[in-house]
Amino acid sequence: MAIREGRWDCQYCGKTGILGREQGCPGCGRVRPEGTKFYLLEDAPEVTDEHLQERAQAGADWVCAFCGTTNEAQRDPCKQCGASKSSSESQQQVKTYELHEVPRTGDNAPDETIQPEPSQVVASRSSALPMLPVIGGVLAVLLVCGLGIWFFVLRTTEQQVTVDGFSWERTIEIEEMRTVTEEDWDVPSGGRVLDQRQEIHHYKQVLDHYETRTRQVNERVKVGSEDYVCGQRDLGNGFFEDKMCTRDVYETRSRTETYEEPIYRDEPVYRTRYTYEIDRWERDRTEKAQGNDQNPVWPDYMLASNQRAGERSALYRVHITDDQGKTYQVEAPEQRWAVLHIGDRVIVKFNAMGEPIELIFQRRS
Ligand SMILES: [Zn+2]
Ligand SMILES: [Zn+2]
Repeated sequence: MAIREGRWDCQYCGKTGILGREQGCPGCGRVRPEGTKFYLLEDAPEVTDEHLQERAQAGADWVCAFCGTTNEAQRDPCKQCGASKSSSESQQQVKTYELHEVPRTGDNAPDETIQPEPSQVVASRSSALPMLPVIGGVLAVLLVCGLGIWFFVLRTTEQQVTVDGFSWERTIEIEEMRTVTEEDWDVPSGGRVLDQRQEIHHYKQVLDHYETRTRQVNERVKVGSEDYVCGQRDLGNGFFEDKMCTRDVYETRSRTETYEEPIYRDEPVYRTRYTYEIDRWERDRTEKAQGNDQNPVWPDYMLASNQRAGERSALYRVHITDDQGKTYQVEAPEQRWAVLHIGDRVIVKFNAMGEPIELIFQRRS
């Protein structure tokens, strides 16, 4: 397994990135203290030197119980004071990291606190700014359209005018019982069947047969396994060792598959269709009475034995003249129409086209 050389930082003089093989700081000359954090740079190459590989695999560094000096695993006795390794139990910690946990900075690195990115805020603000003229333009167009609709369609004016006449119109619908011939899928009550036959009412889809067809399908197939670097092992002596894991390797393969496609056909559904005769009230004529006074009456009418009087309707109009001498007619409810007099001054509401639409109130002149 591949060995890589780690780094460490000197806590005395602040020097950073010291090679893992160094037992002392090249800056201040002090011995690496116990518990120093080893880290691995992202692009640390594999160690190929046999001597260094041997040192890395010899085990963790040990710390002299008498003078505190860190010694390589193979060194005995202590290079500083000569005490033997067997009298010391303390040694650098060995630990294994997942790939995302591997330390990339040492003891002297500043705390990794996440700062909000101000550039993003500026970017979003500047991207919103070009939209402002567009929104303003849309609002202006909507305002002009609204004013146009109000002026040409919704605008009303009120004007005082003089009553100078009246007219009325009253109508009665006369209906007659007639025998008519119709056809339908059902016979309504009172209908007398003249003829019936089978006709196509609608079509339904019926399974006719299956056709064998082919299609391409993609499948994920396991084709083997591979070893990969899934972490790092801090050997406790300035060196790291790749931690290897195994994972399955898949491949997407395409194959041709046959399947049965259902084929449908339209089949007619027959129902009985009837021709029948039936007696119905139908509109025969409109009887109408009208006059240019305030004495409305309903029209006279004569009924045959198969006839009846149906819906009644009435219309009452006030004839008016404005102060420019222009004449109009405006509809009014019967009760208000009946109590007006010629010469009365009334207020009338006009629409945007200049047509009278409503009699608002009356005032005696
Ligand atoms: Zn130093
Ligand atoms: Zn010592």
